[in-house]
Amino acid sequence: MTQQLNFATALLAWYDTHQRVLPWRTASPDPYKVWLSETMLQQTTVATVKGYFEKFTTRWKTVKDLADAPLDDVLHAWQGLGYYARARNLHKTAKMVAEQYGGVFPDTEEELRKLAGIGAYTAAAIASIAFNQRAVVVDSNVERIIARVFAVEKPVSQAKKQIWALTDSITPQQRAGDFAQSMMDLGSLICTARAPKCLMCPVNSLCAAFGQHAVEQYPVKPVKQPRPTRYGAVLWVENEKQEVWIRKRPPTGLLGGLMEIPSTDWLATPVESNAALGLLPSSVMTEILNKPVTHTFTHFHLVLTIVKATVAGVPPLESGEWLAVEALPQKAWSTLMKKVLGVGGCRRASAH
Ligand code: SF4
Repeated sequence: MTQQLNFATALLAWYDTHQRVLPWRTASPDPYKVWLSETMLQQTTVATVKGYFEKFTTRWKTVKDLADAPLDDVLHAWQGLGYYARARNLHKTAKMVAEQYGGVFPDTEEELRKLAGIGAYTAAAIASIAFNQRAVVVDSNVERIIARVFAVEKPVSQAKKQIWALTDSITPQQRAGDFAQSMMDLGSLICTARAPKCLMCPVNSLCAAFGQHAVEQYPVKPVKQPRPTRYGAVLWVENEKQEVWIRKRPPTGLLGGLMEIPSTDWLATPVESNAALGLLPSSVMTEILNKPVTHTFTHFHLVLTIVKATVAGVPPLESGEWLAVEALPQKAWSTLMKKVLGVGGCRRASAH
C-alpha cells in the first residue's frame, strides 16, 4: 500500500510542474470539452486533435449547439480524423444530452456509459477529469506504464483485467482527475512506447521493469498476426455533363454515412474487375484503370480497382445521385475515397 501511495504522490508532484498545456485543460473543466477531446483523442494524436478541437468548439460552443447541427456538417468538420463512427456517435450523444439530460452531462460512469460511443475508458476519463470522481482510467498509455511498473508477464491484450486491477490499486481517492491526466502525460512525455526516458521518470524508484534493467522487455510483445489484404472495385461513372455518380454508404459499419464512389464488396480474394461491371447494364462501355488505389485500415489492407464508364442521362445504379465534378470536394469523403477521387482520373476533383 505504501508503494502505491508513493506512486500517486510522486506522480502528482511531477504533474504539478510538468503537465502539458492543452486547450481542453482548464482550471474548471467543461464536461462538453472533456468529452469532445476524449472522443477525438481515441486513435488520434494530440497534435492532430488540437486543431479539430479548436474548430469544433469555435463553431459549436456548447453540447446543445452541436446537437442542433446537421449530421452532415459534423461529418464534414470531422474529415481527416478518421474512424467516422466517432463523429456519428458524437452527434448522437450531443442530442441525447440535450434532449434527455437537459443539456447537462451526467456525472457518473454508469450514466455516462449509456451515451453513444462512450465505453469504459471514456466514461472513467470524463467522470474523473470533468467531475473529479475517483475512477480507474485505463487507455493504451496506462497499459504500457502499468505493464512496466509491475513487470506484467503477459501481453497487454491478455492481461486487461490484471492491468485494470493494478491501476485501481494505485489510483488515489483525492485528485482523481489530475491523477488520470498525470498518467496520460507520463505516457506521452516520459514512459513512451519507444525509448522511455527512465532516468527522468518521477516513479523510476517504484518501477519493477527499471529495477530489473529490463524495460525493453515490457510490455511483453504478442505474437504478431499478419494483416490480411482485401480487394474490391469502384465504379467511376460520368455522364455527358461531366457529373459523377456518387452515393452514401449505409449509416453503420466501416465509413458509415460517408459519401462514396460506388464500390463492390471488399473480399479476401482479388476481385475480377468485371465483377464491378455487374453493377452496370452490359451495354455501357467501360475502361479499367491500370493503377489501383491502395489503403490500409487497422485490420486489413485494401486494393481497389477503378472502373471508369460514361453513360448518357439515365442513372446507372439503384441509389445515389449525380454531382458535378467541381462540387465533389464539398462532400464528406473518407481518406480512402479522396484517393479514389485523385486516381479516378479527376485530380481536379480531389478534396483539398
Ligand atoms: S522507469 Fe521507465 S519504464 Fe518505468 S515507468 Fe518510468 S519511464 Fe516507464
